[in-house]
Amino acid sequence: MPDPADRPFLIVGAGIGGLTLALSLARRGRDVVLIERRTALEEEGAGIQLSPNASRVLIGLGLAKPLARIAGEPDRLVVRRGRTGAILAAAPLGGSMRRRFGAPYCVAHRADLQMILLDAVRALPQVRILFGRSIEAIRSVDDAVEADIKGATGIETLTGEALIGADGLHSRVAVLLGDASEPAFHGHVAWRGTFDAARMPEGIAAGDTGLWLGPGAHLVHYPLRGASRINVVAVVGNKSAETPGSPGEDEAAGPADRFEAWARPARALLDAVEAWRAWPLYDRASRKRWTVGRATLLGDAAHPVLPFLAQGGALAIEDAAVLAAELTSADHSVTAMKRYEASRRPRVERVQRTARRNGRTYHLGFPLDLARDIVIGRTGERLTDRYDWIYGWMPER
Ligand SMILES: Cc1cc2nc3c(=O)[nH]c(=O)nc-3n(C[C@H](O)[C@H](O)[C@H](O)COP(=O)(O)OP(=O)(O)OC[C@H]3O[C@@H](n4cnc5c(N)ncnc54)[C@H](O)[C@@H]3O)c2cc1C
Repeated sequence: MPDPADRPFLIVGAGIGGLTLALSLARRGRDVVLIERRTALEEEGAGIQLSPNASRVLIGLGLAKPLARIAGEPDRLVVRRGRTGAILAAAPLGGSMRRRFGAPYCVAHRADLQMILLDAVRALPQVRILFGRSIEAIRSVDDAVEADIKGATGIETLTGEALIGADGLHSRVAVLLGDASEPAFHGHVAWRGTFDAARMPEGIAAGDTGLWLGPGAHLVHYPLRGASRINVVAVVGNKSAETPGSPGEDEAAGPADRFEAWARPARALLDAVEAWRAWPLYDRASRKRWTVGRATLLGDAAHPVLPFLAQGGALAIEDAAVLAAELTSADHSVTAMKRYEASRRPRVERVQRTARRNGRTYHLGFPLDLARDIVIGRTGERLTDRYDWIYGWMPER
């Protein structure tokens, strides 16, 4: 009988979570087959914020230098009232975050993050990457798992020690494991785009992360690529964008008409964006079961997070660190996956709840918005302290 350590782990999905897991397992000496539906990794959606809980894991995987090359550290988080532009509070990020959490609060272009992860994975002989393949079937057999993978030349069967579905919000692996539930449209669309930092409106520092709050909408901006570009995310309510993958809006027009009553610099930020992409936002509770037989789920496949806390990718990275440690230390993969699920569930569900609550608070209308703004104003520099439990997370092993 083959030694279980000889069989590869099969990971479905080469997003942030799947790539981090592949890297974590391979760095621990285990073989991995990474199965990705796309034929190449072209990351859409521009920027991503990587809080210290996530950057700490990547640095632990040897990515300190490439991360420093591609990522920046905004100076401050500045929160403004959308309609007037008045600053409600400003909290330090940059060096302050590093000192407090021993890891940076980064912002990066998603394509750059994906590239450094992919380069690191490719450099390891333990990882075999199969692009242009999608998962068709999963079977538990004796002491292993079998997966039918469909590619351009037909179906191939792979045998592994365990299979991990890191295949995102509409996970096919979850369906094959018996959970065909669909995420619910959240009633909001996130518009994303970038512009040249030279066009930054007066009065807004290009090196800051900005959060603008208004009734039914909010705006986020932060610097990318050495602060040469500014990333903008504008979230607005839109009940009609209910078809998966369809924004239900004219992308060329962008969301500017929804911000007509906002302060001039906010409108100028939107006008500066060169091209918009609209992302309908979906929510789902953490799935009831992540682990079935010799397979489990990770990241958005198990527990998507609304983007109002910038934690979905971070949690996928945390999941990868915990799962790799369990899989390489427990005697049995099924035990390892169950332990991973049990240890992760309370935290990811708390983050999901916090993100939902943020969404509601951000979009409050008169008069509750006034109370919110007073609280934010009083919190001032300590604005991010309430997230210490998120940013201070560390892998146990
Ligand atoms: C507007 C917005 C802003 C956000 N901002 C942030 C942020 O600032 N910080 C943060 O941490 N998070 C953020 N997120 C969340 C973050 O983008 C996701 O949580 C993260 O990408 C999830 O990673 P993942 O690896 O689990 O899944 P994905 O990134 O979705 O990767 C899944 C991969 O699986 C592949 N795949 C899918 N189906 C199959 C199949 N059948 N067979 C093989 N492969 C398959 C896909 O092609 C893809 O490569 C944001 C999300 C949104 C919508």
